[in-house]
Amino acid sequence: QSKAEGRGKAIWYSQEMQDALTRKRAIDTELRHAFLANELIVYYQPVVDSRTATIVSMEALLRWRHPTRGMISPGEFIPVAEETGMIIELGAWALRQACNDAKSWPSNVRVAVNIAPRQFQQKDLAEMVAATLRESGLEPDRLELEITETTLMVSDDVDSKLREIEALGVRLSLDDFGTGYSSLGYLNRFPVKKVKIDRSFARQAIESPKTQAIISAISALARDLSIDLVAEGVETDAQLAFMASKNIFLIQGYLYTRPRPIEELRPLLKYWRDAPRLVSAA
Ligand code: C2E
Ligand code: MG
Ligand code: MG
Ligand code: MG
Repeated sequence: QSKAEGRGKAIWYSQEMQDALTRKRAIDTELRHAFLANELIVYYQPVVDSRTATIVSMEALLRWRHPTRGMISPGEFIPVAEETGMIIELGAWALRQACNDAKSWPSNVRVAVNIAPRQFQQKDLAEMVAATLRESGLEPDRLELEITETTLMVSDDVDSKLREIEALGVRLSLDDFGTGYSSLGYLNRFPVKKVKIDRSFARQAIESPKTQAIISAISALARDLSIDLVAEGVETDAQLAFMASKNIFLIQGYLYTRPRPIEELRPLLKYWRDAPRLVSAA
């Protein structure tokens, strides 16, 4: 009977894979359509300095407003867009959108844009960034590009591309820090100005002494290397207070706000009036 079970399992797995493939194809086709039909929009999530309750930057996060299926998260369509290569177009569009939006923000507020690993296969990535900045009129040092360790791993000439981008005056930020294989090694090799601690650390910060020790170590390291440190995924006052106790004051998370359309955030750009959560500097 174990044979029958095994056979059953094999069929079940391949059916599941078949479904995933079908879904991926559907997303790909629909995504191309959505792009042309203006169903894609950029939301923003602030990074707040918890000592002053001011927004220091806002991260552009793509949303797909699907006419029948509602809001589709980038976790579903970005990986598909990466596989098909459509992320090149999508990413360029998101960057243009973000730079144009940021142009009208207070000059002390930066904009952060995620760049997918696949975009580094683009030979003219740095030129594309430079052209986008020129066209929008945004000062290069107001733009942060968020990359992940995957980017640093997969792409051959990533070093030279990052240096070209840095030479434009654009700031590089290492996203989802601590989830990869050799996070510390990358800090030595690449010119990053900012590190964003993955949100899994905030989630475990209160109950896990191990996680607390790791956050302490990252904080000390960032200070010694003069790298800005952001805690992602802060959802509670206890997590906020813990980060403050480790000298981490740049906070991005649902505690302040979920990603929102720019119109809703504009009134908060000068001061976080609706929910000032201040912590005192250590
Ligand atoms: P990411 O760059 O690490 O962005 C942070 C994600 O964490 C966002 O998810 C944000 O909504 C979520 N988040 C922020 N604070 C909290 C919190 O307190 N609790 C929880 N549970 N989640 C929080 P989102 O918007 O769904 O985006 C997911 C990922 O999709 C992003 O992760 C990024 O990798 C990718 N993505 C989004 N927009 C773009 C884009 O324009 N280009 C590229 N290449 N990737 C994008
Ligand atoms: Mg990011
Ligand atoms: Mg992140
Ligand atoms: Mg992430």
